[in-house]
Amino acid sequence: MERYADIVLPLFQPLYTFAVPDGAGLGEGDAVAVQFGAKAVYTGIVWRLHDRRPDVKRVKSVGRRLYDRPLLTPLQMRFWEWIADYYMCTLGEVMRMALPAMAKPRGGDEEEFMRDEFRPRTVGFVVAACTPDAETMARLERRAPKQYGLLRSLAERGELRRSECDAAALAALRRKGFVAVEEREADGPAVSDIDFVLPELTPAQTAAFESISEQFADRHTVLLRGVTGSGKTEIYMHLAARELVAGRDVLYLVPEIAMSSQLVSRVEEVFGERVFPYHSKLSDRRRTETYMRMGRSEGGSLVIGTRSALFLPFAHLGLVVVDEEHDSSYKQAEPAPRYHARDAAIMLSSLHRGHTLLGSATPSLESYAHASTGKFGLVSLTERYGGAQPPSIIVSDTLRAVKRGERHAHFNRVLLDKIGERLDCGEQVLLFQNRRGYSPYVSCTQCGWTARCPHCNVALTLHSGGRLVCHYCGHAEPMPRRCPSCRTAEVQPMGFGTEKVEQEIASLFPSARVVRLDRDAMPSESACNRIVGAFERGEYDIMVGTQIITKGFDFSRVTLVGVLNADNLLNAPDFRASERAFQTMMQFAGRGGRRDVRGEVVIQTSEPENPVLRWVVSGDYESMARSQLAERRTFFYPPYARLVVLTLRHGEAEVLRRAATELADLLRRRFSNRVFGPNTPPVDRVRNESIAEILLKIESGASMSRARELLRAALDSMMCRPEYRKLTVICNVDAS
Ligand code: ADP
Ligand code: ZN
Ligand code: ZN
Repeated sequence: MERYADIVLPLFQPLYTFAVPDGAGLGEGDAVAVQFGAKAVYTGIVWRLHDRRPDVKRVKSVGRRLYDRPLLTPLQMRFWEWIADYYMCTLGEVMRMALPAMAKPRGGDEEEFMRDEFRPRTVGFVVAACTPDAETMARLERRAPKQYGLLRSLAERGELRRSECDAAALAALRRKGFVAVEEREADGPAVSDIDFVLPELTPAQTAAFESISEQFADRHTVLLRGVTGSGKTEIYMHLAARELVAGRDVLYLVPEIAMSSQLVSRVEEVFGERVFPYHSKLSDRRRTETYMRMGRSEGGSLVIGTRSALFLPFAHLGLVVVDEEHDSSYKQAEPAPRYHARDAAIMLSSLHRGHTLLGSATPSLESYAHASTGKFGLVSLTERYGGAQPPSIIVSDTLRAVKRGERHAHFNRVLLDKIGERLDCGEQVLLFQNRRGYSPYVSCTQCGWTARCPHCNVALTLHSGGRLVCHYCGHAEPMPRRCPSCRTAEVQPMGFGTEKVEQEIASLFPSARVVRLDRDAMPSESACNRIVGAFERGEYDIMVGTQIITKGFDFSRVTLVGVLNADNLLNAPDFRASERAFQTMMQFAGRGGRRDVRGEVVIQTSEPENPVLRWVVSGDYESMARSQLAERRTFFYPPYARLVVLTLRHGEAEVLRRAATELADLLRRRFSNRVFGPNTPPVDRVRNESIAEILLKIESGASMSRARELLRAALDSMMCRPEYRKLTVICNVDAS
């Protein structure tokens, strides 16, 4: 009987069927090389084996099997299927994102492909080759203390890792024949070597730990709501240790790795070589190695990483911790799959029959609502570790400051006074402004002309050095001196971004050392670590930054944090604006203060009466949640409805308008009044393509899979029409 394999390729394609030669010995989840098109060779994944010949003239055969074991476990295959189905994308798109670089599309012949196939990483161990006599040792001790030291530690410990030896001393000793280096495959420690030194929990932490353990008995997911600094990390580590000791894996998810270097070192201190960092900033090689090692491992590893770590081949995943579960970076926006890592984590750990712990000081309203209805367990931790006091928060009215002449540059007097006091005490200050660049836009004072991107419908941002930059497509041009429109007046920077704050604060406090942290200041993870490290060591007094500085950092010398313009947060054009503003400000407020010094927060705003600010001042999460949930219920937003946002793009505005109207009508026939739009998004042209949006609200409780089916059918009937050949439609399920 002939055998066939349905194969997933890392392309936007459905499954392809290939013939399987006799004796190929393939199994589901195996990686195979397949020829696709004239020359291209891809890694494909065997998804299904069967004996139904596809209805085509010639069926190509699969190439040889790659690796000595399947690339995907059966659980991973079910996870991929869930992602593809729920988030409405193809398995090929999941594959592109889920596997490290080795499995991405590549051209060239198979031989070239196989040459860089992964080989296990080896680690060099230094061992003694021959023991020098006492006289030689004495001479080394006098003349070459590093070589002497190396030999002494070798004598004590039997062997050393090459990485811990001084390279020059090692080279000299190898030349002299005293030591040798052995390469061994690095597969992590054996599961039995367990001697974690865990921080001792406080009574409040112990109670939370025990309550989580109890609730895990009959609930799959528990939400830990613990104020900033209450020691959630310590509780995670205790829970993780229990899983690791039992030989199960733990996944510790963080929103962004850039802010997590301090956390990673803390976790590594406790769990040592069992810790595997995994995120997109690692080299392809490191990612591939980690993937392969996890595939070979039988459990007992702790992966700490960003959302892509969900796709590693875990053996038995006992626990997933989703730290800062409310953070919006858990949702992948681009490209597909547009998955939410928190929701995917819950699915993944239930496939493994493990547990999920969501942690946050300010949980997402979705999670909070689930905890209130009992779908999730709930544990609260209300005191800070070491009895540190919650920060004192001052709301400073910007309009009043202007009226009274108490505003200098973009700072109200109160904030300036407090900065001065803190600097005098040798303490540090964080200043947050959620716009990068110098000014968000530039405008003519005479005729109102503003500089806009030629490819996108958006204003250009002024950066230091007089460059105007588009934050959507990267287009850059010099700032014009004179207004190109009326040719009479000068063009002025309007509003302010982090670069301007940096410049102003430096001139207001000339002796202060100021540093900026935003996407422009840290093109790479190492640049970020450098800035954070220098600030931590006290090489700077003030750090100015965007959203990034509100997260995760633990700076012990920071005692004052300032929000330069809360209005941006409060008025974001988004149904989550209030929730997000509250979360951001609470999280940022938690960055200041320590056990002996109470932290202070100054929030500048022109809306001091805004209820969100009242809740921030009193740290009243419950009132915020109650009020926002009531609003969401009235206007039918998550968690009371699921949102699917369809984004349509086309080069010609007219074709786009027609397509969007047609699709909305088509959808209305199936979903009636659950369809909203087509709408014009705030930025309706990017990279010379016009953009329209259609919003679908599906009431919770209704069948999402039925909704997705109807939606797919509607899209298919549109997309096959020749006039819409160049139309792009993106589905974003649970868009935020
Ligand atoms: P959270 O994650 O809840 O904001 P952390 O876990 O970062 O809080 O704890 C805040 C600070 O308190 C950290 O510096 C941490 O080392 C310290 N800390 C918390 N709990 C303990 C503990 N049980 N033993 C020692 N230090 C602790
Ligand atoms: Zn003008
Ligand atoms: Zn642009």
